[in-house]
Parts: sequence; C-alpha cells; structure tokens
Amino acid sequence: MVERKETESRKLLGRLRDAMAGDDPGQERLDKITTLIADSIDTEVCSIYLFRDDETLELCATEGLNSDAVHQTRLKLGEGLVGRVARRRQVINTPDAPNLRGFRYMPETGEEIYSSFLGIPIQRLGDALGVLVVQSKDARKFTADEIYALEVVAMVLAEMTELGAFVGEGAAMSARHSQPTMLRGTVAQEGVAEGHVWLHEPRVVVTNPIADDPHRELERLDEAVEELRVGVDKMMDMAGEGEQRQVLETYRMFANSKGWLRRMQEGIGRGLSAEAAVEKEQSIARARMEQVTDSYLRERLSDLDDLSNRLLRILTGQGKDTGAEMPLDPILVASNIGPAELLEYGRALKGIVLEKGSVGSHAAIVARALAIPLIVHVGRITTEALNGDQVMLDGEQGIVHLRPDDTVVSAFRDKIAMETQAKERYASIRDKPAETKCGAVIELQMNAGLMADLPSLESSGAEGVGLFRTELQFLVRSQMPKRSELSALYRRVLDAAQGKPVVFRTLDIGSDKVLPYMKPNDEPNPALGWRAIRVGLDKPGILRMQLQALIRAANGRPLTVMFPFIAQYEEYTQARSEMDRTLAREAKLGHVLPKSVSIGAMLETPSLGFAPRKFFEDVDFLSIGGNDLKQFFFAADRENERVRKRYDTLNVSFLSFLEQIVERCAETNTPVSFCGEDAGRPVEALCLAAIGLRRLSMRPASIGPIKSLLRRSNLEEVRKVIFDARHRGDMSVRPAVMEWLRQNG
Ligand code: PEP
Ligand code: MG
Repeated sequence: MVERKETESRKLLGRLRDAMAGDDPGQERLDKITTLIADSIDTEVCSIYLFRDDETLELCATEGLNSDAVHQTRLKLGEGLVGRVARRRQVINTPDAPNLRGFRYMPETGEEIYSSFLGIPIQRLGDALGVLVVQSKDARKFTADEIYALEVVAMVLAEMTELGAFVGEGAAMSARHSQPTMLRGTVAQEGVAEGHVWLHEPRVVVTNPIADDPHRELERLDEAVEELRVGVDKMMDMAGEGEQRQVLETYRMFANSKGWLRRMQEGIGRGLSAEAAVEKEQSIARARMEQVTDSYLRERLSDLDDLSNRLLRILTGQGKDTGAEMPLDPILVASNIGPAELLEYGRALKGIVLEKGSVGSHAAIVARALAIPLIVHVGRITTEALNGDQVMLDGEQGIVHLRPDDTVVSAFRDKIAMETQAKERYASIRDKPAETKCGAVIELQMNAGLMADLPSLESSGAEGVGLFRTELQFLVRSQMPKRSELSALYRRVLDAAQGKPVVFRTLDIGSDKVLPYMKPNDEPNPALGWRAIRVGLDKPGILRMQLQALIRAANGRPLTVMFPFIAQYEEYTQARSEMDRTLAREAKLGHVLPKSVSIGAMLETPSLGFAPRKFFEDVDFLSIGGNDLKQFFFAADRENERVRKRYDTLNVSFLSFLEQIVERCAETNTPVSFCGEDAGRPVEALCLAAIGLRRLSMRPASIGPIKSLLRRSNLEEVRKVIFDARHRGDMSVRPAVMEWLRQNG
C-alpha cells in the first residue's frame, strides 16, 4: 500500500518535472502545475498563492476558480484560511471550510461552493513563499498520504520559486531577490557604507529537487549521512569537555537518529532528490522551532538545523567556499559572527549586517576597532540577500538598502559626501586640544587591539592608547602565541606610539571571548564566570608570560599595564604582586627593566566603586570599563539587545554612580579614565566630561566628532542641566541634554 502511494507521489512529481522542463513562461508553468495537481488528486480546484510582499498573498494560478481572479485576488497574511496557512506555516485540512473559523468568502473566485479545503504552506528553510490549496465540492477530508504528496510538491514549488522558475506577470511573480528592499536594524557602529553583499555562510542552492533514480538518491543520502557521522566523530575526538562536547553529543545523537534518516528516505521514496528530502525535514524543523518556547528544545532544534546544513553541503558539494569571488567592496552579511571570525576578515570589509548580533558584543567592539559600520538585528537579511547584491548601509538610521533603486542611490551618495566633509572638518582640529568653552581640557585617547589600529593614533589625533585589548591578538590565532612573539608585537606597538602613552590591558578572556585553542569552560553564566583576572590569578602561567613579554617590549621605556575585571582590592594586590615578582625575575635574568611602571585596574564591577579608600590610594590609576560596569549595574546582559536597550547610560542612577567614583578618585588624587564604548558617543562623552572625567578612551573614528562637540560646549552649563534633571526626578538626563544641545546649535 505504502509502496503504491509512493509510486503515485513519484508519478505526480514526474509529471511536474515534465511541466517544468520546457522554456514555458512562468505563468504557463504555474497554470500547467495547478491543472495536473487537480487531476492527480482528483479535486475540482487547485490554486497557488504566492507572496507579493511581506504581508500580502496573491492568487497566481488556479484550476477550478474563476480565472479572472488570478493576480486580482489578494489576502493579507493571517486573513482567511489561506492567510492562516501562510502565517502559521501549518497545514489546514477540513471537509467543511465555509464553517471553519477564519474562513473568508471571496466572491470573485466563486469558491463558496467548495466544501473541503486543504492548504499547504510553500516554504523553503523557514522562509514562507506562498500557499498551495486544493478544494473539492464533496465534504471529504484529505488523507495523510495526499497531504504528504502535496507537501512534497509544495517543497518542489518552493525550490522552483527560489530558482526563478515562475517569473512572469503579476507582482507576486517578480523574480525573488530582484526587488529593492529596505530592512531596519539597530546601529552598532555608525557610518555609511556602499558595497556588495558577501555572505558569510552562503545559502545552499538545490537545483535538482526531483529524483531521477530513487535508488541512487537513497545511496547518495546514505553516503552523505555516513560522511556526516564520521565528521561529527572526528570533532568529538578533538573537543575537550564542557559545553562544546554536549553540543557534539547532540549532533551525534541526531546524526545516528533512525527517525530522522527514515523521514528523509521517505521523502526520496515519494520522489524527492536526496538534498530536497533533507531540506524538507529541515523546513519542518524550522517551522517547529518558531513555535516552541522552551529554550532547551529550541537549541536542540537549532543543532538539528546546523546538522542539516552540513548534510546539504556534503550532498551538494557547496562548501562555505562556493568558488564565488569576494567583491572588492564587500559588505558582510551573516546571521551572527564571533570576534575571531570577524578579525579574520579584517579591514577588507566595508560594512557588516547581522541578522542577530548585539551592540554590546565583542564582535561589535572589533567592528568599532576596525571602524566598519555595523547594523545588527536586521531580520531576514540572510534570506533576502544574495552574494553580489548591491547594498547600502545607513549606520545613522540603522537602515539597510538592499538592491537600492536610483533615487535611494543618489540620496545615499549625498549622505556619504556629507560625511566626507565632516571628516575633513575634524581633520582640521586634529592637532588642537579638546578644550571646552569653560576651559576644561579633556584628554582623548583611543582604544586599540591590533597592529592595524595604530596608524589611527596619528590620523585621529588621539593622545595615546587608553585601552589596548591584548586578547584580540590571542583571538586571531589558532594556537597560543609564544612569549617572544608577544614581546615583538608589544614592542612594535610601543614603537608605533612614538612616546605617546599606551595602556596595555592584560588578557581579558572568558565571557564571549573564547580562545579556539583553550579548553572551553562549561559555565551557565560566562559573563559572571571565570574570566579576565580571575583566570589570570588562578592559572598565572599566561599572565606571567604576558607580563614578561610586556617588560621586555618596554626595554627601558615607561610601561603602563592594567588588570581587567578587578572586583575587590585583594585581586589588585595579588595581580600587582605578580608584576613585582616578574620584574624581580626579569632583573635577575639580566633584562633591562622599564623606566617606570604604572599599574592600574579596570573598574567594571559595581563592587570596586565601593572598595576601601586604601585601594584608591594604592592603585596607580583606574579605568572605568563602562560596558561591563553598566551590564552589572543594571543586571542587563550587554549582549542581549532586548534588555540592554532598556537602560540608558545617561540614566540618573548610573550617572550618579559614575560621579561618585570620579569624586572618590579626586579625593585620593587617583587618575581615572573611562574606556567603555559610551566614551565614543558624543552626548555620552559630553555628560562624562560634565561629571568630571578628564580622560576618555574611545574608538579612533569618534575622536574628531567628540573633540568638535567638546570644543563648542560649556561643561558648567551641561552640569547644571544634569543637576536640574536629577532634581526633577527624570529617569535619564538624555532628553534634557539633547534639548540643551538643540538650543545651543
Ligand atoms: C568594558 O567593559 O567597558 C571594556 C572596556 O572592556 P571590554 O569591552 O573589552 O569587556
Ligand atoms: Mg570589560
């Protein structure tokens, strides 16, 4: 019985393939398909609806309904039974459609006389493309076999739609990926950029959804699954303990799952090619993923999704390297990316667009360090964009123009020209101090982490490097750097700085900065976990090696070092003793010691703001790491956009806390700076200066605009605006400061 049904379904696909084979225009193909489906399933009606835009479905072909309704009848997503199938991406199968909730009567189609209704979503990898509908007069419920056969057909239709097989008249039949599209996201690094799409993980294209020889397809699937299993086993052998291993265990479980394999084999039995069968399963899993709320289950489904992608790459031979050439002006498009992967691309990128991502992540920090405009949380970008598409990033408004039309292009180019003019203005004040109207002088330094950052010291006019994130050097490598390599690198950094101060921060790993060659640490909350100086003190080998490398690099020059993530006084004293011991050892070994050594701490946890006075007296300097400090002050994950956005840096409570730190430092004459990302945002920088900070360290591209703003501002006035806002009980001082800025031009 099953065999017979499989043969029928294969027959249907065989006829479908014949219908597609010729050079018929898209509309004729669709018409033929609806006719042959209605004929095969023995129903009066078969219709195909495709999306004409995100919210609207258009009837594109029908057998049985009024043909005048084609390209006229439209439904909103969620409207009527068809709209419901599209929204929920679930089958609706009913013998009595007119009495089902949500039924919508459309007189132009003449459909009121049909009782039974079967609607199947046309979807590809979670991307809804349309709905396939069959209807009949008799009140029958379609069988599971009929539904399966039509799901297989819908899958093939989705592939063909993606490949442009139905391009023709009617807005819904315009070629996919050809229309100008505007998408919105959140700005993570300002700036405008124009270029062409470069997909970090190019989509797999299935060109042969229908099997010629099912036996051969079954063999191909078996071979591919075997290759997949071997690959997962190899990864297991290489992985250490911890979270990564757990993920791989799940992979192995899925790769060996008989149910998963059987369902894919069934797909082939029904006439699909091996890759189409994998995709069909993947689409179902993705649709399910959107429905489940349990985060554990979602993660497992996403593991399965990843595994399916691997299987598809094996089957199609389309690796990450598709042979496509990276455009000269690449705009990277990815679902998400880690800091190490981003560093591999380096400055070659003109811009970055992420579907997920977050403003507070270290990938965002890397983008900032490289001064590459970055927009995160851009929904659907990875399904909309194709390699080579023209794209324009408006990193002021958080807008991505994909395949822009001429008017957008020209407006955008005007914007780029304006930005260039502004840059020229900033260059003219490069060698002038950031002296405010009230006579305060703010020292503006830059953040860095790569050799490639250092030319910016000169071009931006920064007065030094206020934060050198040494971990970036560790992240870009595939193995632990040697002491001699580090020492040579730090020496080059100091040489390039030409006497300007450089503050080296010792290794800050953990949280989202995971070294590929270190055993991953299985922790439920890595941001609150074993990271930064905690690792340095517990396993001092690396810290010592780094301190030695720094001392040797200084080679008689002044050396400034700070320890990240100091949460209590004792951690500072322990780390400092490590430095003292290392200095003594280096002297014994006959190395030239630095001319002077200044040892600071990063204030990144609220606890340190309340440290004993003695700590403030002992420490040579403090640097406020606002990124971490803010996340711990508000208990809001810096990488979780949803909660991060709730809390403004200019919130009065946070600003008061910062001010108290500045006051405590003033009492003990402890130099203090602010090196979090907020230092590089003009309004924030202005307020930080107004509450008494006299040293700010930021990305180089921010120095010009911030200097320009500070030179035009009177901090006494800003201070008063902040004071008044606090007394009024405002939540944030931002509105008041913005108003002051407006009034002062
Ligand atoms: C900070 O937390 O503000 C900081 C500068 O360190 P990082 O962003 O590297 O954690
Ligand atoms: Mg930090």
